[in-house]
Amino acid sequence: MISVSEALDRLFSLAAPLSAETVPLHRAVGRVLVEPVTARRDQPPFNASAMDGYGVTEAAPGKRLKVIGESAAGSSFEGPVGDADAVRIFTGAPVPEGVTTVVIQEDVDRDGDTILITDRLGSGTNIRPLGGDFRVGETIPAPRLLGPQDIALLAAMNIPTVRVARRPRVALISTGDELVMPGETPGPDQIIVSNTFGLHAMLTQAGAEPRILPIAHDTEAALATVLGLVDDADLVITIGGASVGDHDLVAKVAAQLGLERAFHKVAMRPGKPLMSGRLGDAMMIGLPGNPVSAMVCGEIFVKPVIRAMQGLPAEPALRETAQLAAEIGSNGPREHYMRGRSEPDGRVTVFGRQDSSLLSVLGASDVLVVRPPKDGPRAAGDLVEIVRL
Ligand code: AMP
Ligand code: MG
Repeated sequence: MISVSEALDRLFSLAAPLSAETVPLHRAVGRVLVEPVTARRDQPPFNASAMDGYGVTEAAPGKRLKVIGESAAGSSFEGPVGDADAVRIFTGAPVPEGVTTVVIQEDVDRDGDTILITDRLGSGTNIRPLGGDFRVGETIPAPRLLGPQDIALLAAMNIPTVRVARRPRVALISTGDELVMPGETPGPDQIIVSNTFGLHAMLTQAGAEPRILPIAHDTEAALATVLGLVDDADLVITIGGASVGDHDLVAKVAAQLGLERAFHKVAMRPGKPLMSGRLGDAMMIGLPGNPVSAMVCGEIFVKPVIRAMQGLPAEPALRETAQLAAEIGSNGPREHYMRGRSEPDGRVTVFGRQDSSLLSVLGASDVLVVRPPKDGPRAAGDLVEIVRL
């Protein structure tokens, strides 16, 4: 059995980076930018008013000025502005040549075409300087996972399309005679496929393009048939059938189909029977069937692989530290990812029931508390490592 970090290293070396494609900006959120983007204009492209008010060459309380024109967003005032002049100006409008200050409209009294700057006059010019946000040539570096803020910045830079990594295509295969799809009427000894849908959701959020294939029954022929439907997937994920029971056929059938196995079994809880390798053109990961095991392995192994395939750094799930809200007992020989909840004060409570079948406990969790192998008992207030869900 190998350690979690060793397994992750082997997964990263199997994860080939995918090609790039061009997408319109409104389709780019959640995608990974693969080429740096350079601003082709200054923002703002002129000195711009930050407020509604009056542009003047010099602001002083008691000064009386004549309003000689108007500068609005999209239509600037052309012409000279003298020391006795003011230009009515609105937020976002170009500041006319010679104007040093925009006096906000609350700080003047207006009478016809005349304004009086009152002693309410505040400090500051209320002018946003040309290029104050970004200048021509400034870049957004790649690789970068694009969030909504990046999309806004790219739009302001006048970038209508971006080069992003192709979404990893993932084939999800459930195995088991007992499994039926949600919505079906299960027989007395059947259960509903659950983690397949959980993984589909997780991988969609992670930027992948998952597809749920038909459930493979626990025969070699059925499993080989479904594996034959994989088509052009970059990553094939099987769920269940990964341990060494009589009905656990994944390793055997995958080997018959030519799997170059990279490892089988990881020293972790839950998730010990994890396996991976290369199957034809695709990478394959065999996840354990227990619902919590599959979902935890999704967080710890599959999501980092999806990120790496899109060109992001090959890094494990981010770990933070948090204080325990209550004591916990010692850990066994495997790295344990315990389901827990963060409290309003930031401390974390580890749930008492940790069986790997309990989706209700996972559903109530927002953190995994990571216990190193053979970690001793921990008291309330002790610092532990966590992975946020
Ligand atoms: P296995 O690894 O096939 O022995 O499965 C371990 C446990 O997980 C069994 O109780 C299975 O019924 C259950 N299981 C396997 N695959 C799934 C799935 N896709 N959704 C929900 N439960 C599953
Ligand atoms: Mg099974």
